[in-house]
Amino acid sequence: MKFGNKFDRYIVIIFFVTIITVILTSYLTFKEIINSHNKQQHSAITPLFSLITSEILRPLNVANFMANNQLIIDYANSDKIDKKYLVTYLEKISQSYNMLAFIALAKHDLMIDSNAKETMLSSKDAEWFHRLKDLPGDQFTDIGNAEDPHLYFDNRILNNDGEFLGFTGIGIDLNYFATKFAEYSQRFGFELYFVDQNNVITLSSDKIMKTEGHHRKDAITRLNDLPWYQSLTQNNTVDTRLSSEVMYNTEEGLLISQMPIQELNWRMFIVSPPASDQNEYWKIFVSRFVIFFLIIFIFFILLLRILHYFKSRLVQDSETDFLTQLPNRSHIHWRFDDIVQKNTTLSVVLADIDNFKQINDTYGHLVGDDVLRIISDQLSQTLRQIDVIGRWGGEEFVMLLPDTTASQAHVIIERIREKIANISFPISTTSGSFSITVSFGICELPLQNKTLKDYISCADKALYKAKHNGRNQSVIFN
Ligand code: GH3
Ligand code: MG
Ligand code: MG
Repeated sequence: MKFGNKFDRYIVIIFFVTIITVILTSYLTFKEIINSHNKQQHSAITPLFSLITSEILRPLNVANFMANNQLIIDYANSDKIDKKYLVTYLEKISQSYNMLAFIALAKHDLMIDSNAKETMLSSKDAEWFHRLKDLPGDQFTDIGNAEDPHLYFDNRILNNDGEFLGFTGIGIDLNYFATKFAEYSQRFGFELYFVDQNNVITLSSDKIMKTEGHHRKDAITRLNDLPWYQSLTQNNTVDTRLSSEVMYNTEEGLLISQMPIQELNWRMFIVSPPASDQNEYWKIFVSRFVIFFLIIFIFFILLLRILHYFKSRLVQDSETDFLTQLPNRSHIHWRFDDIVQKNTTLSVVLADIDNFKQINDTYGHLVGDDVLRIISDQLSQTLRQIDVIGRWGGEEFVMLLPDTTASQAHVIIERIREKIANISFPISTTSGSFSITVSFGICELPLQNKTLKDYISCADKALYKAKHNGRNQSVIFN
């Protein structure tokens, strides 16, 4: 079957429309997925702020609130203190906020906490007191307590004349932070790092949080030790001021946001891997699409084959004579065009059954039909593969014999004619039989610029001659 006709073009158009539709829908779906991924990242912001507020700013505020409490100021100033009263007060704070609360009073060389634990400020355990006392500012965070590391929020107590009296403070277990931040990090896929003004990591959602050694100088983790920060500083000038939020992209595709926590002189870093994640999405998209494309392609090839099969069946049916199963005129026309293109010599033969009307009249139409079938079989059997035979009309047949001269055709046809004439057809009603003869007209023309009509009309003339000369013979047109 010929490709490139209208039908095939439609199939190709349908194929491409399907492919484009599939690409578009998949692309939009993936965009939707990535968008919802981005939305999810956005939705992580609010919990992050409440996390910072409740876990970092709240303890700071509580320490500040205690330091500014006139009762505490008066107590820190007074000569005599009631330890029991202080512990009760600290216990109350501790219970309300679920934190360790403490007061360090310079005048009394005493630090006392909500667990009623007392420490002398002159002792080694209160090293922090003297360190922070000499630092500028009123609010501090400090990590201490080697056995059970805590983050302490310390607030300076000043009397009404601005003189230093001591510290109020809140202590929070570092493991508590670790759990809180790890929960957050797991839920939203970010890592959080809190960094003080010396670039020392104070808190993080990473495992370095859990090292017990924050109070030890040798175990301090600095921002510059972290690989992502190193790759960030390689390509960017990092704004270390506490002014505004900044965003960075590292070469590895990490998205890093820096946010100031001014109350503490800290910076917070949010490290998220959205870019690489998106690449993953696209990789999946492309690989899935390739598979999908192949499946659609195979599907279309199969569909094309099936359609072509049915199409050729349809064409075959429409070009086949039902009674004799020989090709009809329209097929003969098409085959003639084909032969003309490929051959230089062609003989066309017209065959007409002699006195066929009489057969019908004598034995009936059904016998006539049988005769037609038998004759058509006889004609086809003797021909070569390249020859074409068809039913031209009622009891007329046409034969196209490529590469055959008229005299060669004559020899072949004579053989067929004799064979048919020798067949005896039994008569069903009697024990007798009848025979049939066929007349032939043969025509060979120089192929150039000749139509089938030219051949048929010349073969018809020869056939007429055969009939005229007494039938049962083959005549070459000349
Ligand atoms: P001639 O030798 O001159 O060709 O005589 P003829 O009787 O064969 O020619 P004519 O054209 O007078 O008659 C042809 C007959 O063929 C007439 C028609 O009824 C018959 N015929 C045509 N098609 C069919 C067919 O499909 N089945 C049957 N049974 N008869 C058919
Ligand atoms: Mg006829
Ligand atoms: Mg006839």
